[in-house]
Formats: sequence, structure tokens, C-alpha cells
Amino acid sequence: MQRHLEQILDDMDTLRPYALKNQENNVELRSVMRRIIQHIEHLQRTPNITPAHHQSIVMLLAQLLDAEHGILLKGHHDTGLSEQEHLQLQTHVTERQKMLQAIQQDWPALQTFLNNCQDLLGKKPSNDADLGQHVRELEKLLREHFQQDGQLRNELNQFINTLQGSIGSVLHVLDEVGENAPELKQTQSILQQDLPDDPIQAKALLQQAREGLLQAGNKLNAASQTMRDNMKQQVSQMTDLSSRLKEAEHAARKDPLTGLANRRKLAEFLTSLPQDIAISFVMIDIDFFKKINDRYGHDAGDDILTALAKILNDSTRSSDMVARLGGEEFCIILPDAELQQAGTLAANLCQAVSLHSFTSGSHHIDVRISLGVSQKKDNETSEESIKRADKALYQSKKGGRNRVTLAK
Ligand code: GH3
Ligand code: MG
Ligand code: MG
Repeated sequence: MQRHLEQILDDMDTLRPYALKNQENNVELRSVMRRIIQHIEHLQRTPNITPAHHQSIVMLLAQLLDAEHGILLKGHHDTGLSEQEHLQLQTHVTERQKMLQAIQQDWPALQTFLNNCQDLLGKKPSNDADLGQHVRELEKLLREHFQQDGQLRNELNQFINTLQGSIGSVLHVLDEVGENAPELKQTQSILQQDLPDDPIQAKALLQQAREGLLQAGNKLNAASQTMRDNMKQQVSQMTDLSSRLKEAEHAARKDPLTGLANRRKLAEFLTSLPQDIAISFVMIDIDFFKKINDRYGHDAGDDILTALAKILNDSTRSSDMVARLGGEEFCIILPDAELQQAGTLAANLCQAVSLHSFTSGSHHIDVRISLGVSQKKDNETSEESIKRADKALYQSKKGGRNRVTLAK
């Protein structure tokens, strides 16, 4: 660069005496001029031009033009050029002047353009950098920018894909609570499209999608509250139902008048007992109960049933089971009890009842019971043992009531 400029300055010095002497036809003069012009044009094409270099090129060119025009215009007067040649000369001069103007504007315009580009990409160029440095810097920045842009786009697409899945789930939840979410469906269809390359359009679309998501988010909050409420209600209904079911199940196994177990509970109890233990049965029936009803009324009869149930319960172990089989008939199951033990219990019961003072209202009522006892045999079912106890009970009735009979 420096070499070219020095050459031009030298050439200018060579040119100056020729110009002054008006040697327009001098071949050397013309070749020097051509060389200067070539040098300047060469300099113009070099990318590494600093503002100072540009300034000196423009000045050199201005000097050169002045010199050249001076010579040419003088030559025109001296040699008497034709009108057409004169016009050509003028055109040449005008073009050279335009060239000078263009060169004057060229570099600053380019510099401004590069500055603007670099400003846009977020980097300030240094003021003393030459043109080539500027161009290289800009190229580097652009490359980084496009790479970043690509990465961002990739990440955005991945994010959108994930979002699509979530939107599907949200739509499903909203649908379940009967909530319509058209804005969410719109968001979904927006995100299904490829994002436009134009950043402004892409931004507007994403903004629209974001608003749809926000609205749907509010709906989802409300919906999840509704779902929570529904769930709470359902759980409390189910708890209520299950406790009522429990009560019903319990009631289905209980005699409502006496609170004793009923036949069903008795059957369940029997199946729950182990096979290898002694089991005895005591069957109980109130004597002449019909008469009690007839004399004191049905309610008094009920009072007797309830009081007797209490005596039976209080006289047995917690591992025994006392059941009311119906009417004024009761059955006691005694696990781990031999016939003799059961017989003793039956006799005690018979006596206890006969000594007990039953009352209903102001009435004192005498109550007697008859009992039959059996022990389950090895090859016998519980039903068969109960039948034998029942037969023994019948024997007690036949034998005069208020007594115990042991089954064989
Ligand atoms: P037996 O000594 O032979 O057993 O004579 P009984 O009168 O006790 O026997 P019977 O079978 O003739 O009468 C039973 C009575 O029990 C008839 C029925 O009205 C009465 N009874 C059945 N269930 C109930 C009840 O829940 N409450 C009342 N108060 N009476 C009942
Ligand atoms: Mg009876
Ligand atoms: Mg009876």
C-alpha cells in the first residue's frame, strides 16, 4: 500500500514539469498518467483501506485530474480540435470528475454501512480498524448470528414439541370436566405449523399461542378445583356409603330385638371354627311363652325375650356365641367345651332363669326354660349336632319342661 502511494507521489512529481510545459503529445507523459491512474484504481480495489489512506487517494486523484485536465484543455486550444473532439474531451473531463466524487463518497458510505451492520448484530467496530478488518469482523459476526439463530430455532422446536404433549393432556383434563377450550385448540394448531422465517410474524404467532396457553391455564386451575371438589364429595359419599354398608352388614347378622346374633351369624361362626376342637350346642326354648304373651301382652313378651338374652350373654364366655334362632328359641355354641361342661352351663342357666325376677311394667313374670345339649361328633355336621340338641330339648318339654336333657 505504502509502496503504491510513494510511487504515485513520485509520478506526480514527474508529471508536474510536463504539465507546466504543455507537452500534451508527449508519450511518456501519457504513460505516466496511465500508470498513476492504474495505481489509484488498484488502491481503490484493495480492501485494507483506512480512512487516512482513502483521504490521500482522493487527494492524489484530484491532483492528477487537475493536472491532466489542465494539459488536455490547453492542448485543445493549441491544436484547434474539432467540435466533436472538444465534446469528447468535455465528456472525459466530466466522467473523471464524477469518478472523483464517487471515490469521495465510496469509502465513508461503505464504512457507515458496515458500522450499521455491526451495530445491528450487537458489536461496535473499533474506529481505527481498516476496511478488510471490518469485512472480516462482519462476516464472523454473521456466521455466529446464523449459528445462534439455528440453535435457538432448534431449541424452540423442541420446546414446542414438548408443549404439544402437555397441551394434549390439558385438553383431555378440561374435556373430562366438560370444559371447552377453543383457544387451546387454536394454540395447538398454531404450534403444529412451522414457524415463519420472518421474526416479526413468528413473534406474533408465538404471542397468540402464549395468550391461548394463559387462558387455558386459568381454565385448568378452575377445572382442577372443580375436580378436587368433586373428588372430595365422592370420597365423602363413598365413606358414608361404606359405613352404611358396614352397618347394614352388621344389622343383617343381628337380631334387632335382643341384639344377639341371628341364624346367619351363627352359620358364619360355625364355619370359622377349627375342625379339631370339641364343640357343644345348647338349645333353649321358653316354656309356655304363648301364655305369657296372652296374659301380659306382646310387649311384655318382648321384654322377657330381651331380659333372657342378657342372662344368656352374661352367663357365657366371650368365645361362645349366643344366637336367637327365631321366636323364643335360642342356641348357644360353645367351642372348646365337652358335653358335660355344656350340660353344667345349661343346668345353671335353667336355674338362673327360674330364680330371676322378670318384670314388665308393674308385672312380675315367672319364666322357665327348657334346654337340650349336644356335643358335635367327629363324623357329624354342625347342623346334625344342632338337630340332636333340638331333639334333646323336645325331650325336656316332654319330660315336664324347666329342665335340661343331654343328647346321646
Ligand atoms: P312350649 O312351652 O311348648 O314352647 O309352648 P309355647 O307357648 O312357648 O310355644 P308356642 O310355639 O306355642 O308359642 C310360641 C309363641 O311365641 C308364639 C308366638 O306368638 C310367640 N312369639 C314368637 N316370636 C315372638 C316375639 O318376637 N315376641 C313376642 N312377644 N312373642 C313371640
Ligand atoms: Mg318355641
Ligand atoms: Mg316355647
